[in-house]
Amino acid sequence: MKSSPQVTVIGAGYVGLVTATLLAEAGIKTHILDLASPKIKTIKRGRAPFFEPGLDELVAKTIKNNRLLATTSYRQAVPSSEIIFCCVGTPDKKDGSSNLGYVHKALRTAAGLAADGVVFVQKSTVPAGTGQSLIKTINKMAPGLQFSYVSNPEFLREGSAITDSRHPDRVVLGGDSPAAIRRVAGLYRLITKPGAKYLQTSLESAELIKVTANAFLALKISFANSIAKLAGQTGADIKSVMDGVGLDKRIGRAFLNAGRGYGGGCFPKDVAGLIAAAAQSGADMTIMESVVKVNNSMPNYVVKRLSDQLGAKTGQLVAVLGLSFKAGTSDSRRSPAVAISNLLADCGYRVTTYDPKAVIANRQLKTAVKRLPNLPAALKGVAAVVVATDWPEFVNLDWSNVKGQMAGDLVLDAMNCLDDAAVTKAGLRYTGIGR
Ligand code: NAD
Repeated sequence: MKSSPQVTVIGAGYVGLVTATLLAEAGIKTHILDLASPKIKTIKRGRAPFFEPGLDELVAKTIKNNRLLATTSYRQAVPSSEIIFCCVGTPDKKDGSSNLGYVHKALRTAAGLAADGVVFVQKSTVPAGTGQSLIKTINKMAPGLQFSYVSNPEFLREGSAITDSRHPDRVVLGGDSPAAIRRVAGLYRLITKPGAKYLQTSLESAELIKVTANAFLALKISFANSIAKLAGQTGADIKSVMDGVGLDKRIGRAFLNAGRGYGGGCFPKDVAGLIAAAAQSGADMTIMESVVKVNNSMPNYVVKRLSDQLGAKTGQLVAVLGLSFKAGTSDSRRSPAVAISNLLADCGYRVTTYDPKAVIANRQLKTAVKRLPNLPAALKGVAAVVVATDWPEFVNLDWSNVKGQMAGDLVLDAMNCLDDAAVTKAGLRYTGIGR
């Protein structure tokens, strides 16, 4: 590999912008390319267009030293780039299958401008088999172009994306060109800390590794939630149960936390995509259909727990703390916290909400749900508090202080993230999920 290849990263979202800034920080001249000009304008000003811890600083630093070049122009970025990362969205369609339109469009446009020897690297999450069809698309768009294609699925988590990228559990590289894989691995060695594991596979295996990993994590969450519903009936405490289960080295404790279910821009659509791909190829995927069914039931389960304790009297005021799909991110795509707020409004409660960072799209919240600018405003006079996202500022609340602001005394811990003893000590009634 030459010492400083020019790289283009297509898609300035969570995956693309983090990848691009880390490469730029490592000294690689990196174009960050997105068709959304407001995003590119923000990046050019040295800011990240969304909240991700540490990202503003990285963008500012790499824009200032001219290593990160933000553009909406393929023509400006692609011809001089030796390696092109594709990090555009792959949302699900109505039938659950993956919408690969953005990926095809991005690579078609890039192929028409790329120079011989270019390596296309797919970081977007795509169903197994997509790479082969993209290779055909590129060949059709740019007959005669000499290129390689590598599948390099991304595993970072929003909220810890930069740390995850520097300390990945593994870097997966799939494809049939060892030389191209070596070049991409060479770039990764510049940004990952020593000791990172590199796994080389076929194209299809790399694609399926990503979807399978997300499906398994979703499965663990729904499994914990299924057991939590039973624990709630039997008097067992799901936290102790999973602590005991997780101590078994064959099982492990991670992702066995019961709560209001998973959401966000990845798990729901990746699981839907896996189910749709299985249906297309005739493989049985009832196991993941059950995972979805359990997950979809959780916001209703939370609301039922609340109404069982609060009584059905309509018009009572309830505060929902948290709207993002998890702590550490402004992302509220398919957030169960949003679903809970809306369901409470449907049940006739008056709902106030507060979230320190969540970006909420128009019409995502029903008009009966009032988003307030700070915690005291959201808590004032409420009969109950539902903690729906595990932001540290909610986990570490002074519950005596909270009690002073509430009219009632019910705290529903929909993430099982609170110290139940501290809540009870403040004279409040604590309820969790499966506790
Ligand atoms: P995102 O929605 O935050 O960003 C995608 C960006 O691509 C947008 O800014 C959009 O404007 C841009 N875009 C779309 N079409 C384009 C085109 N033709 N040319 C240039 N730009 C274009 O998406 P994300 O969360 O970063 O996810 C990207 C991919 O990575 C998805 O496949 C996702 O499943 C996968 N992934 C995401 C995460 C995560 O935590 N967000 C983690 C691992 C993998």
